[in-house]
Amino acid sequence: MQKQAILTKPIRSLEDALEKCQTLGMRVSRQRRFILELLWQAKEHLSAREIYDRLNQQGKDIGHTSVYQNLEALSSQGIIECIERCDGRLYGNISDSHSHVNCLDTNQLLDVHVNLPEDIIRFVEEQTGVRITDYSINFYGYRQVGEEGRSERGKE
Ligand SMILES: [Zn+2]
Repeated sequence: MQKQAILTKPIRSLEDALEKCQTLGMRVSRQRRFILELLWQAKEHLSAREIYDRLNQQGKDIGHTSVYQNLEALSSQGIIECIERCDGRLYGNISDSHSHVNCLDTNQLLDVHVNLPEDIIRFVEEQTGVRITDYSINFYGYRQVGEEGRSERGKE
């Protein structure tokens, strides 16, 4: 029972992520810590290449292979997020289920937690005959250009 509670506890901080590694019996090597620290600092979705570049810019001693292997290990254990996109994999700090806002102009991917109303979930279940246990929504849109938009409207 106790063990179950630990395993299902969501990761909400770098400390939680490190703790989870230890709970799972994963060694927290220096390199592994570098990657987790970077993802929790950046709070962005980054490719393995970007992670490698940023760590090296910070003067962290970590090789390509080590970055790839650690990302693989951390994502397969559910400690970090891994998204498959047509242009490659991206990694993020939030590992529990969440939704994404895709900015079509800036190509950014933002994390957002959305709770759908019960009746929408029931609707999906009725349409498909599948009992829904989890979901993740992709939203698409454009960054609002606050000032420009406002002055445009002011002219009306
Ligand atoms: Zn995400």
